Amino acid sequence: MKLESNFVFSKIAALEFGILSPKMIQKMSTVAITSSELYDIDGFPVDGGLSDLRMGVIDPGLTCKTCGNTIRDCPGHFGHLELARPVFNIKTVPYIYNILNSTCVSCGRILISDEHLKKLSEDIISAEINEGHKKKVKLIKAIVKHAKNVTVCPFCRTKQHKIKLEKPYTFFDGDQKLTPIDVLSRLEKIKDSDLQFFGLDPDYSRPEWMVVSILAVPSITIRPSITLENGQRSEDDLTHKLTDIVRTNQRLAENIRSGAPEIIIDELWDLLQYHITTFISNDSAQVPVARQKSNKKLKSLEDRIKGKEGLFRGSGLAKRVNYGARSVISPDSFLRFDEVGVPIRVAMEVTRPEKVTDINIDRMKALIKNFNSYPGANYVITPDGIKKKITDTTVSNILDELKSGYTVERHLKDGDIILFNRQPSLHRLSIMGHSVKVLPYNTLGINPASTLPYNADFDGDEMNIHVLQNEEALAEAEMIINIKNNIVSPRHGLPLIGAAQDYVSGCALLTAKDTQLEKAKAEFLLSNINIVTSLKNKKYSGREIFSMILPEDLNFESNSSTYKITKEDDSIVRIKNGKLATGVIDAATIGRESGSLLQFLFVRYGSEVTAKFIDQTNKLGLMTLFLMGMSVNIHDFDIPKVANNEIEKVVKEGENEVSALLTNYNDVTEAKILNISNRIRVKVRNIIDAYIEKKNNNVESMITTGAKGSITNLIPTIGLVGQQMLRDVRISNGFSDRLTSHFKKNDNGLIARGFIVSNYREGLNPVEYFLHSASSREGLMDNVIRTPISGYMQRRLSSALQDLKVKDDLSVRMGSSIIQFKYGEDGLDVSASDKGDLKL
Ligand SMILES: [Mg+2]
Ligand SMILES: [Zn+2]
Ligand SMILES: [Zn+2]
Repeated sequence: MKLESNFVFSKIAALEFGILSPKMIQKMSTVAITSSELYDIDGFPVDGGLSDLRMGVIDPGLTCKTCGNTIRDCPGHFGHLELARPVFNIKTVPYIYNILNSTCVSCGRILISDEHLKKLSEDIISAEINEGHKKKVKLIKAIVKHAKNVTVCPFCRTKQHKIKLEKPYTFFDGDQKLTPIDVLSRLEKIKDSDLQFFGLDPDYSRPEWMVVSILAVPSITIRPSITLENGQRSEDDLTHKLTDIVRTNQRLAENIRSGAPEIIIDELWDLLQYHITTFISNDSAQVPVARQKSNKKLKSLEDRIKGKEGLFRGSGLAKRVNYGARSVISPDSFLRFDEVGVPIRVAMEVTRPEKVTDINIDRMKALIKNFNSYPGANYVITPDGIKKKITDTTVSNILDELKSGYTVERHLKDGDIILFNRQPSLHRLSIMGHSVKVLPYNTLGINPASTLPYNADFDGDEMNIHVLQNEEALAEAEMIINIKNNIVSPRHGLPLIGAAQDYVSGCALLTAKDTQLEKAKAEFLLSNINIVTSLKNKKYSGREIFSMILPEDLNFESNSSTYKITKEDDSIVRIKNGKLATGVIDAATIGRESGSLLQFLFVRYGSEVTAKFIDQTNKLGLMTLFLMGMSVNIHDFDIPKVANNEIEKVVKEGENEVSALLTNYNDVTEAKILNISNRIRVKVRNIIDAYIEKKNNNVESMITTGAKGSITNLIPTIGLVGQQMLRDVRISNGFSDRLTSHFKKNDNGLIARGFIVSNYREGLNPVEYFLHSASSREGLMDNVIRTPISGYMQRRLSSALQDLKVKDDLSVRMGSSIIQFKYGEDGLDVSASDKGDLKL
């Protein structure tokens, strides 16, 4: 069969779904199933059994009795099973229920008068044309809802009674049970022209087809059996279920034929209904779950389609890829920020193709020889595309034939560019190009400086790498999406990669006014950033050392974080001709999302210089801490007795203010009380800020330099924990008229409604602890509920954006249509702006 000649080029205007009619099922069918046996004594498929060769082949060597093809080309063919008694298709039960209740018991017409119907018919057509399909569905729902409540048929004047549905699939007309046969005959009465009001097209879905009288048996191709090592066959779940169906159907037919008592027939009929229900869907409410002998849940047709692992999301939209790896990430400050630590065993598995040339042939041969260990290679590909695995038996032949034009799939080596990704991938910086560093660990290593754009931390986060397999992709990864070229955020123009925490503390310590280093220590620091020199002087100031990583022609002036707090002139950062004259280097100059110096360097000298500078500052900071040390002590959190007295006074005042309000308690009072508790917080914050020790206090210096933390973090630590809230209001409802039995009834004061006056350092009392845990639990629950939302956001983003491309002329296109004439409608590069502001 020539594929090319069968191509049809046309656009899909609409999709219409329908229900298979019994006639259609018979027409499609290649075999009527008559036997519940699968194989005969010789192991051959039984004629008319569920493995009948007319439904397709799964054994290599056999040919299909319908199309004559082998396993490779036979698409599989439907069979059919004539049911002794009809049963409901569980998925259609809600529709049947609606249709029964909105059509006449006796004449089968929809319970709406003729002239009204004419108008509705026009409405439906115009709704679909003018307002779209959703509007049409809405209209149909309204029509059905209306018809359901009509009590007398407008056509034959018969009084209507409500049909009840007892879940999962039993219909009652009054006390009388409606069998599928009864329902079938009622549905058959409905006129074709009335079906449009249920959204049905009579050509594709007559309502009586919702009752199964002939079951379509899926081809063997979609339910292949597997042969175990001991030669035994293990059948697919669907085949198991179909065997049950065929067997029950046979017993039902026999009993009907022999005139067995009604009870026995009904029982078997019910069983048939159960088997067919669980064949279609094995988790409908109130239907017992069908299980295998091993107690494993049987996979139904629905399970194959629905959900994350189903056909659409699991096989159609999501693709598993080769040359990718995933592992837990670990911090590694000795990597450059643009590197990723790749475990050796990953490097030996996810390979990179390299074309053999006269220049690299010796190196390639060495890799092939070393295929068993690292660094080696796994496969070679000949110029005509034949892929050969390198093994003990093939290695010598491959070495002999290898020549220019071959491709070698070699292990990853240091310096290879790969893609690094963390999910949810919500912006373009969630996937960036990194340089490989092969390491003897089992986790992927990442410099903590690069965690921000990925939103990664090290509490068990996992990330993915993808090894690129062609030159174009490699060029893109190296030049466009390389992390080095994405230091500055496209959102606000600030660097996303830079110093944080220890790196900031270290640099601030190094560049503090009085920091002096002996020659040996200075040399040690410099050697760590690959500046190997022998210094002349006996002592060096920290600022002199820091100046050695600055470009010689750099002139720069800016405030440091420290200056903003201390207002000392010496902490203004002044760089003259590449020399740091004054100033503490801290988060305001080199920090992520704040570093003014980083941004300046990026604009002035480009990404390469900035990237090197970031790694060097971080390393300097880290090694400074290594030399000088930095720790915190519980007494770094001390505030003097006066401060505690002042806090106590503030709380007392607040309490008094609140009790004054309580004499006339209402909703307005509640808002005022919240206001008071907020004011207490602010006052406490100011007291802590005023009294916390500023000299020789590492907690304070972490806050001042912007390394980590804020005065706000100190409020609950050493001030007071404050008001606990549930759903944005003060906690209420515990026992009747009070939170817990520790309080007086109807007390709406600060303390009695969850205001905690203790702090973490002194500890909370049991009641405070209890109330605090209520708020914490709310936070925890919120977090759990929000997490999947961002996963869904990624799915929506990727399906909306997957086909968009930015072309060389900056237009954004999808296929042949233009989405934007200029990227972002303005063609502006925000990363080149000044914190989002344009200086035109
Ligand atoms: Mg985490
Ligand atoms: Zn076939
Ligand atoms: Zn009627």
